[in-house]
Amino acid sequence: MTSYVDFYRQSIDQPDTFWAEQARLIDWHKPFDRVCNHDRPPFVNWFEGGQTNLCHNAVDRHLADRADQAALIAVSTETGTEKIYTFKELQVEVQRMAASLKALGVKKGDRVLIYMPMIAEAAFAMLACARIGAIHCVVFGGFASGSLASRIDDATPKVIVSADAGSRGGRVVAYKPLLDEALRLSGHRPEAVLLADRKLAPMALVAGRDRLWTELREQHLDAQVPCEWLDSTAISYTIYTSGTTGKPKGVQRDTGGYAVALAASMKHIFDGRAGETYFSTSDIGWVVGHSYIVYGPLIAGMATIMYEGLPTQGMDGQPNGGIWWSLVEKYKVTAMFSAPTAVRVLKKQDPALLRKYDLSSLRALFLAGEPLDEPTARWISEGLNVPIIDNYWQTESGWPILAIANAVEKKPSKFGSPGIPMYGYNVKLLHESTGEELTKPGEKGVVVLEGPTPPGFMQTIWQDDERYVETYWKTLPGRMVYSTFDWGIRDADGYYFILGRTDDVINVAGHRLGTREIEESISGHALVAEVAVVGMADTLKGQVAMAFVVLKDAALAQDAAAALKLEGEIMKRVDTDLGAVARPARVRFVTALPKTRSGKLLRRAIQAVCEGRDAGDLTTMDDPTALQQIRDQVAAA
Ligand code: AMP
Repeated sequence: MTSYVDFYRQSIDQPDTFWAEQARLIDWHKPFDRVCNHDRPPFVNWFEGGQTNLCHNAVDRHLADRADQAALIAVSTETGTEKIYTFKELQVEVQRMAASLKALGVKKGDRVLIYMPMIAEAAFAMLACARIGAIHCVVFGGFASGSLASRIDDATPKVIVSADAGSRGGRVVAYKPLLDEALRLSGHRPEAVLLADRKLAPMALVAGRDRLWTELREQHLDAQVPCEWLDSTAISYTIYTSGTTGKPKGVQRDTGGYAVALAASMKHIFDGRAGETYFSTSDIGWVVGHSYIVYGPLIAGMATIMYEGLPTQGMDGQPNGGIWWSLVEKYKVTAMFSAPTAVRVLKKQDPALLRKYDLSSLRALFLAGEPLDEPTARWISEGLNVPIIDNYWQTESGWPILAIANAVEKKPSKFGSPGIPMYGYNVKLLHESTGEELTKPGEKGVVVLEGPTPPGFMQTIWQDDERYVETYWKTLPGRMVYSTFDWGIRDADGYYFILGRTDDVINVAGHRLGTREIEESISGHALVAEVAVVGMADTLKGQVAMAFVVLKDAALAQDAAAALKLEGEIMKRVDTDLGAVARPARVRFVTALPKTRSGKLLRRAIQAVCEGRDAGDLTTMDDPTALQQIRDQVAAA
């Protein structure tokens, strides 16, 4: 076995040799001429000259060896349905979808926006886009019209694929009216909307625009749509993520580099083997869903479970905290991927549930998306008796930046740490204001990456190279490095610990949200003059959003009944604009917000006060009574 240190060193010192070797894990239609082109930093082209296709690698490539093995297992505890698609069946469905999209006018390079619940058709749509070289833009189904509209405007999709409804905890969420409203709000008009009808909610079709998947599918039952061979650097998809401005960023990914990165991570980090089953509890609306529900496991020749429902509800709709473990037993899941929040939810269930099922197939549980607290890690580690692999990454990276690559060399995990830098990532800690590299154990700095960023990493921000460079690569003085916008420290053994964001992004139950987006939504309320949204520590969700609002008419907030009504209205507004995931846990009314003398909002001070911590250096603060009001509000709660 190679030592991880050597493996890692080669990836950094000889990236061409290292990644050329990893590139053998996928099929190439045309071999590449150059492994890494970093001539125009920070941009990187991986595997230039090569041609491949993600759908070929995820589906068609496996037909020779495993046509009749399970590929996609779609389980919904919301509708009580379970359906297995073999690789052959998956190929057939994907071709039907690809032919339908083509019939609707979709061509190579066109965008297809996917706004769907966790149903098999969503995966068909993603794979169909990859097959024909269309760029998919999946928008999380939990987002509402406002978020969706801004993404439609940015992606300008030729076609939108959606459904009548999703369902959560037995409650039907009609998607079609949200989509119609988003299309009313947005300036862009797609040529067609393709709709899966689950018969969960009534759906009014717009003549000439809306088409039913059942009908198009019927017309293309025997469709043969060959995979389009794409340049390695061709865009495979964009996925929107939150940052420090209200405008979401379209993280753009390539084709060849992404396929290689996923294949390599499935082998070295997730230790997933062809013929086995992978279960990620995430959603296709997030990057984990792209990398480790759809593409990664399928590229590795594994069956992947796509799960719609709560972690605590059974197939019969009744409470069942063991549902995930029953799926692990039933499908002999070998690798499972979830988020700390989900484990914290399960932790409230009867611990005996873990012992009720045969979980012997499971080799490891991977957790990511937010900090993993030690009690949660210990509880699940003792319950499952398999390694719990905390791993740290971002929408931007596409695959883990920090983890433990046990399939390269077994290494212990440390509670509270997502591990060590993964191969290909030149991770450094820099001093926030001097940009100096911090090398001593325990020094706190900004976690950054030195270029070239590895395969699979974002290429740029969709249609905005300048914003990509300015946002990510120019934030630290004196050096062009990629900022993760996370604080971190490293111990003497080289293990990293992530200490939270350096920017205005918050993480609610593993969902990344920009406080600015929430603020913009709240500011839209006619009675609101000003608002500050901060993240506050929460034992279940990691963080929750807290909103402090200054009303145009301060007297209104004096009336308790009026204040309560307003709080409800503001929450409702965020619900309909952005979705319930972004709804603040509390809205508090104040007459002023703490700011610096130059008018900059002191978010960190507000957050510290909410969490009962010291507010830090307040020498630049303008009006001390503003922070005192927040202190009083928090104390009164
Ligand atoms: P997203 O792009 O939505 O995946 O969010 C990425 C952010 O989530 C990171 O920048 C971190 O702030 C946080 N994050 C992700 N994984 C971890 C982890 N394992 N430990 C701590 N924070 C994490």
